[in-house]
Amino acid sequence: MKNSAVLVLREIEAQGGQVRIEGERLRVKAPRPLPAPLMAKAKAARRELLALLGGTAWDGDDWRDWITERAGILEHEAGYSRIGADATAYAHAIIEWLNRHPYQGDPGQCAGCGDPIRDTANDWRPLADGATVHYGGHWGLRCVDRHSQRRRKEAAAALAALGIGEAP
Ligand SMILES: [Zn+2]
Repeated sequence: MKNSAVLVLREIEAQGGQVRIEGERLRVKAPRPLPAPLMAKAKAARRELLALLGGTAWDGDDWRDWITERAGILEHEAGYSRIGADATAYAHAIIEWLNRHPYQGDPGQCAGCGDPIRDTANDWRPLADGATVHYGGHWGLRCVDRHSQRRRKEAAAALAALGIGEAP
């Protein structure tokens, strides 16, 4: 099922279109009307598309399917060993979880140490996940590391709560 959502998404993108989520609704934007059969397919795959684009939270089965599919590709197409493929697929799932759950904290506060960010100082930077951290100079990479370790722990805990553990 998830594969069909990916294919629909690719087809829409190939036509120059974009799919976005607004609340629980899918919005398709395209430079010209998309063919009716493609729109019908998009409608049929609505739930999967929402899940794929992060509109609804994935459950344990969704994550297990995603990881199994990923591990299969790594093993059969990228030449990983079975164990390496499982471990790498899990590492990718952590990243996928992080992408689906942007940082929600206050951008005026360092996500690493919690101290306020001083606008006028040149010792901080915004990260791609929405966090702001101290960076460079006196701070080095300390705040970046603390933030990223905390986020990874958060992702691992969220996956573990869904019954997804690190590959043995
Ligand atoms: Zn800091």
